[in-house]
Amino acid sequence: MSMVKVELQDGSIREVEAGINLRDLAGQISSKLKKEAVVGSIDGKLVEVTTPITDSCKIQLFTSEDSEGLEVLRHSTAHLMAQAIQRLWPEVKLAIGPVIEDGFYYDMTGRTFSSDEFPLIEKEMQKIVKENLKIERKETSREDALEYFKQRDDKYKVEIIQDLPEGTTLTFYTQGEFTDLCRGPHVPSTGYIKVFKLMNLSAAYWRGDAKNDSLTRIYGTAWPKKEQLAEYLERLEAAKRRDHRRIGKELKIFATTPEIGPGLPLWLPNGAKIRRTLERYIVDLEERLGYSHVYTPVLANVELYKTSGHWDHYHEDMFPPMEMEGESFVLRPMNCPHHMMVYKQEKRSYRDLPVRIAELGMMHRYEASGAVSGLQRVRAMTLNDAHIFCRPDQIQEEFSRTVQLIEQAYKDLNITDYWFRLSYRDPEDKEKYVQNDELWEMAQSMLKQAMDNLGLPYKEVEGEAAFYGPKLDVQVKTAIGKDETLSTVQLDFLLPERFQLEYIGVDDKPHRPVVIHRGILSTMERLTAYLIEVYEGAFPLWLAPNQVKVLTISNELDEYTNDVVEKLQRAGIRVELDNRNEKIGYKIRQAQLEKVPYMAVIGRNEAANGQIAVRKRGEGDLGPMDLADFITRLVEENAEKK
Ligand code: ATP
Ligand code: ZN
Ligand code: ZN
Repeated sequence: MSMVKVELQDGSIREVEAGINLRDLAGQISSKLKKEAVVGSIDGKLVEVTTPITDSCKIQLFTSEDSEGLEVLRHSTAHLMAQAIQRLWPEVKLAIGPVIEDGFYYDMTGRTFSSDEFPLIEKEMQKIVKENLKIERKETSREDALEYFKQRDDKYKVEIIQDLPEGTTLTFYTQGEFTDLCRGPHVPSTGYIKVFKLMNLSAAYWRGDAKNDSLTRIYGTAWPKKEQLAEYLERLEAAKRRDHRRIGKELKIFATTPEIGPGLPLWLPNGAKIRRTLERYIVDLEERLGYSHVYTPVLANVELYKTSGHWDHYHEDMFPPMEMEGESFVLRPMNCPHHMMVYKQEKRSYRDLPVRIAELGMMHRYEASGAVSGLQRVRAMTLNDAHIFCRPDQIQEEFSRTVQLIEQAYKDLNITDYWFRLSYRDPEDKEKYVQNDELWEMAQSMLKQAMDNLGLPYKEVEGEAAFYGPKLDVQVKTAIGKDETLSTVQLDFLLPERFQLEYIGVDDKPHRPVVIHRGILSTMERLTAYLIEVYEGAFPLWLAPNQVKVLTISNELDEYTNDVVEKLQRAGIRVELDNRNEKIGYKIRQAQLEKVPYMAVIGRNEAANGQIAVRKRGEGDLGPMDLADFITRLVEENAEKK
């Protein structure tokens, strides 16, 4: 017997007989590993654990606890589901069944499915698991594969094969009576699959094209252990509870209607109150930090965007131009060009810099209708925008101040789960990014240096920069697990050039300023979406749309009630009155559902004593309180952003 040298994943070398398969080799290391390995790799290529080792090589073994193993387990579960469905309904034709995040799906046609049938399908799957069918891989020629699926009248598989070049060798995977065209690899037998669940179904098109056949897509998930499935389902539930689209509707924060169009939400009174609070907060803060706020129009002549470069590099994300009196106007997708024009309204000297122009600037972007989502991703949005015009020697300082402002705002808003991303250009993509290698390199290393000086951790990614320069993004996770950008700080040497911006230096000569684009609170839309999820709709007092709800026990007390409401309002407190002829218990329950921070209940005793009975969200009954004391308490808590 000839021997081969095998390097294991811990780096150790073992001499084994040629022909031994990965699983038996695993057995020489540990019997547990032999039992649990679902897939392996030979010289980095994933293969079945039953694959024999023929030459010296490097191998790895994966259990379903490893991401490689888990993917294979899930893909094998997709095959298992397809087999079960074809046993139940032989007329069903299969399209494709890939692995996705947390699970898999399979597209099919031939009958109408209902999720009520999931238990039936799952039961059949369990049966096949019990049968512990061997999953066998077989190479086949393109011609034989075509013949096989033609005979079975499997048109999608036939199409897939026809698209492959002639002479390609394909692989079949067979378990019992079921054979699928598949690259693999798979677990050794159906008995390896234990914990799975079918999740939901949706409509899909063959090859994602609406002109093609309509298919049913059945989604499922699979896990190594029962507890992991339970945790996953719990996570999904929690995400649903937090989803800003659900809460936003329930708490009447915003609405999107087909009559207006996708991505064009209405801010309802409750949402508008939250937004106004955020806007006041950030404008006040920025004015204290030396920003000058302006108002500029949402439309501009398209020439402005040709000058800025947006027309060349960004017009796919813009609404098309409107013609008027021989001129062409566009809805702005960014506020930068307008702010460049504001800068140009005065002669600037080196002593005037930095000039910080800020605006709650409304912008419109063409986002695909499939990409828009609640307030999270919209087509009409208002950005907490500013452009800092500074001298090159002021970049570091201004950048650091901006990052510090981000940190302060996040502290005030109780945003704790975020990470910094330094976004560089993709050096391969010459189309998308403005060219000037030297400037790019310099700007990128300047940002990195500044972050290092601040001692903040960050990840570096290529291809996420703006077309005019590199940026720092602050990334957060939404309830449905998507990473989105909240804050952004972008360095720009290009727009000042294009707009011929100048300041007079110490030398009495004109110089180019540098521009820092920055959005701290993101757009009001995205921020509010995020905050709804962070607080699950239970906003802290200072942000709550309605801070106090006054509830009456009897409507004979109108005079006192009106007095209470008016005094609260005059103290700047957002108050709502519920004086309906309903039981107090019912009114309290409704206020709880609305997540109002405080309730002020008024009955005969309270009216007689100039008091109110206070209930606090999360704490319950606080007992009677003098109205004046209650107001003092609210004003203080509001100021402390509680
Ligand atoms: P994204 O990568 O999220 O599409 P971007 O990089 O194009 O955003 P910028 O041009 O930097 O975005 O816009 C500034 C900020 O506006 C972003 O950081 C983001 O927080 C927010 N934003 C961008 N697009 C949208 C949108 N469609 N809806 C709501 N907010 C948005
Ligand atoms: Zn497959
Ligand atoms: Zn800008």
